[in-house]
Amino acid sequence: MNKKKGVVGLVGAGPGDPGLITLRGYQLLKKADVVLVDALVNPQILKGLKGKIIYAGKRGPGALHGSEHNTPQEEINQTLVRWAKRGARVVRLKGGDPFVFGRGSEEMQALWKENIDVEIVPGVTSAIAAPAVAGIPVTDRRWASQVTFVTGHGQARTRGTDPVAPLVDWKNMSPNGTLVILMGVASWKNIKRKLLAAGFPPDFPVAAVESGTNVNQRVIITTLKKSFFDFSVSKLMSPAVIVLGDVVRLSPYFSQKKRWKPLAGKRVVVTRPLKQNRDVVNQLQDMGAEVLVSPAIRVQPLSGKIHLDGKRWDHIIFLSANAVRHFSPLRKEFPFLKSVTAFCVGDQTKQVAIKQKWLVEKLPRRFSSGHLLKHMGSVRGKRFLVPRVQGAPREFIDELLKRGAFVQPIEVYKNIAIPPSKEMKREILKGVHAVIFTSASTARSFLIHFSGPEKTRIFKKAKAVSMGPQTSKAIRSQGVHSILEARNATIKNLIQTLEHL
Ligand code: SAH
Repeated sequence: MNKKKGVVGLVGAGPGDPGLITLRGYQLLKKADVVLVDALVNPQILKGLKGKIIYAGKRGPGALHGSEHNTPQEEINQTLVRWAKRGARVVRLKGGDPFVFGRGSEEMQALWKENIDVEIVPGVTSAIAAPAVAGIPVTDRRWASQVTFVTGHGQARTRGTDPVAPLVDWKNMSPNGTLVILMGVASWKNIKRKLLAAGFPPDFPVAAVESGTNVNQRVIITTLKKSFFDFSVSKLMSPAVIVLGDVVRLSPYFSQKKRWKPLAGKRVVVTRPLKQNRDVVNQLQDMGAEVLVSPAIRVQPLSGKIHLDGKRWDHIIFLSANAVRHFSPLRKEFPFLKSVTAFCVGDQTKQVAIKQKWLVEKLPRRFSSGHLLKHMGSVRGKRFLVPRVQGAPREFIDELLKRGAFVQPIEVYKNIAIPPSKEMKREILKGVHAVIFTSASTARSFLIHFSGPEKTRIFKKAKAVSMGPQTSKAIRSQGVHSILEARNATIKNLIQTLEHL
């Protein structure tokens, strides 16, 4: 008999959140002389431990953090045995539960073979916890009385064999109940095909929970048919649990009642320069979207002397935020403008006008130039200044003139078209959910750089999100008809529109 024999605790660390390790597991950790840590364990749990920490983990393909610690299983087993034989208190800390797709059983057997005591401390498995924190119960009396846990990662990776978990009976997998797939990201295309072949309906609800319970958790809700596309464009990464079944419908993410990262997994192209769009971009990113900023225009102020026809003006009409920016400095030259009130089309235009200290007229609830005309009522005999972009369509001005107003349009800036970079074009062609156009000129300048077949490819999946009727018209003139027009030209409305893509 050994006089002093080491003990190995085979401890489940839980799915990620440090609060989800068991009390017993944490007690063993605190007492341990050596801790062998699995790749998926949140390093936060290790803070303040006195024992020696050894990283010994494995990573499947498609992992989020590279494969820096890829220790062969045999080496891990031997290290455990060696330390235990020296009489150390050893903890083998594994992600989730040690016996759920974790090779904990092999470690246990290797230790038993050497007569070493093993204490198994179960953990909260990501297979149940990741769906749970996304509001998906793996069972539910009404919807799922059975649940199947499957690995998507094959053991046999020799030439000629099917790499998608060859020991899994995909053919007989049933859509009755819940299916939970771990390590399925890298082989998802293949798995999806197998499930469709097994008779799973194309519109079967699917959720992917990436880094469940961690601060960077993401939830992607989709259907079996659309899942590969949605996972690819949102760059779903391991570790992720993929859940299929009616229970997915119970998740607040499914019904979008819950607004936690409502745009997670959405790829959105913004076509205005970042400088003018920081607000939109920040908000989209905060809500989880991946934003591709591909400016289609550059704004250049127009220099040259401006002459105003007289001093008495009733109103200024700002049709864009840029018009405000480039017209405002003129107040120095024409001090009488200080008391003229401004109508603004668009939320951003209004924001900038207020910042520039214009006296802003109360706005109609809907903001397009057409609505503004309606809102202003009779304009006969009134005098308007309309600072605007060079080459803007005349319709709005003509309409005011027709109604008996006096109008002086002033060109204060011009838009210079710039093509998207090669890399950006490639990214966009990979697939996106939406391309946002905030003006007719950005729509024209952007779309002109894509061929007919390229536009068809992009807008087969994506929606062109337009800020108003003028913009929509420009989009259509470029042969794109898959348009979602925001009801109001506001950022809030734009985001609401995107959530329903
Ligand atoms: N024993 C672990 C599973 C190890 S297999 C457990 O019980 O949780 C590794 C797989 O677990 C990953 O590929 C992923 O599918 C899943 N996984 C682990 N942690 C996860 C997490 N925080 N969020 C989502 N999936 C996770």
